Amino acid sequence: DLHPIRRALLSVSDKTGLIDLAQALAARGVELLSTGGTASAMRDAGLAVTDVSEVTGFPEMMDGRVKTLHPAVHGGLLALRDNDAHIGAATAHGIREIDLLVVNLYPFEAALARGAEYDEMIENIDIGGPAMIRAAAKNHRFVGVVVDVEDYPALLAQLEANDGQTTYAFRQRLAQTAYARTGAYDAAVSTWMAGAIGDPAPRRRVVAGTLAQTLRYGENPHQQAAFYTDGSERPGVATAQQLQGKELSYNNINDTDAAFELVSEFLPSDGPACAIIKHANPCGVARGTTLKQAYGRAFDCDRTSAFGGIVALNTILDSETASEIVQIFTEVVIAPGADQGARDLFASKKNLRLLIAPGLANPAAGGLAFSQVSGGLLVQDKDNGRVGPDDLKVVTKRAPTDAELADLLFAWKVAKHVKSNAIVYVKDGATVGVGAGQMSRVDSSTIAALKAERMAQDLGLDETPAIGSVVASDAFFPFADGLLAAAEAGATAIIQPGGSMRDDEVIAAADQAGLAMVFTGMRHFRH
Ligand code: 5GP
Repeated sequence: DLHPIRRALLSVSDKTGLIDLAQALAARGVELLSTGGTASAMRDAGLAVTDVSEVTGFPEMMDGRVKTLHPAVHGGLLALRDNDAHIGAATAHGIREIDLLVVNLYPFEAALARGAEYDEMIENIDIGGPAMIRAAAKNHRFVGVVVDVEDYPALLAQLEANDGQTTYAFRQRLAQTAYARTGAYDAAVSTWMAGAIGDPAPRRRVVAGTLAQTLRYGENPHQQAAFYTDGSERPGVATAQQLQGKELSYNNINDTDAAFELVSEFLPSDGPACAIIKHANPCGVARGTTLKQAYGRAFDCDRTSAFGGIVALNTILDSETASEIVQIFTEVVIAPGADQGARDLFASKKNLRLLIAPGLANPAAGGLAFSQVSGGLLVQDKDNGRVGPDDLKVVTKRAPTDAELADLLFAWKVAKHVKSNAIVYVKDGATVGVGAGQMSRVDSSTIAALKAERMAQDLGLDETPAIGSVVASDAFFPFADGLLAAAEAGATAIIQPGGSMRDDEVIAAADQAGLAMVFTGMRHFRH
């Protein structure tokens, strides 16, 4: 299963390591074929090279769109060496075998990253490269294919160990890598187009990404993990710049995403806001007149849980806020900027990761959300549903006051980012109790009320901040009991989707308790 390399075709956009590789091949007596730019780079280094145009009998043409697309190349890659008919055809048409293909593709992903225009993106779609890669990979019984500069040393080690030959197992591994590359490449093209023409339906989308980081481990230390990015330039955990601190972990990335997506619901023009996340759920979200106050109020909601949390801010981190944050251990801080004072303050906290995002996320943006099940992936549109004052339907005798309305809309935005069943108590633009992830809505209500009582204890308040608060529920109350629990805790207004069979009962209970209730007509399950 060893196969010698006599003739190799090299055609690379990224010329890193090319000369060393070509010299090593030449030293072994391998004949080198190559395309325009790659050939001149090799010639400049004093290597003897045969131009592909000489092999095909055609010049490279149409701005390089057609260089290697020819039977002399593809026949040379695809011919089965132990098949008489294949060898006969090759001989009849003067096609000579190619045993090794070294290609890296037009830098489509790099063009994406620098935000190239549509036409430039199109020109960066490689055609001949993927065609050759797929041909060589298909014929891995005889042909080796290298698509990644990082695999050059492994190839040379193979040749060294096997007297100029490669093993079948090695060629199989190269072929598998090759198809991963062409698959990811076309996925990147398709994903870019999806954005360029407006997000099409999930069933027309590809699920793929580019490996950005091999993680130390997954959710737990016994799980291997990696972070793949989809090439999007949207502000978020994937595009943020890390200024300091250890490498992000799997859970850091997940929680930072949750924190940043949530805080981005709050426009900076409406004032500073802060979200603190633990285990992907908010343990405190607040607005403030200053960022420092917003952080303090978010922290106060659940001081115990905030320890070791992820803090997201909707505006530039200033030193006043930074000096509050460093009072307790925080895993990650993400913000659309940080002033020099804040950076200096954080610099001494080696374990604190500071991420600067290129702006806030757009909560109204489209995109896909995935979750995995045994045997497959569930794909849906991202939950970018938003509710404004005009979407609300007042269903109780009493309409909410302006202050209640502001808090209801705040609570609703938070509830969207809380694992279901979600119950969120809010007072004066700050959460005072969050009930998350319970199997019953009443239990979430109970926990949220309990959290509010704990807050009163922590802060030495005379009474629970649930008194005079408003409540959001991510889905309808199937019975009046959850709503009554909120009323009993002291809430005065409710926001919920409505749509239960027993809405009449629930509305009657709200009227009875003197509550104001609005329906959104939109549900925000999150699991
Ligand atoms: P060079 O720098 O050698 O002129 O071009 C190398 C690049 O051309 C490689 O990225 C390779 O994948 C690509 N390439 C090779 N053959 C073809 C072809 O026939 N059409 C297109 N569009 N690209 C090709």
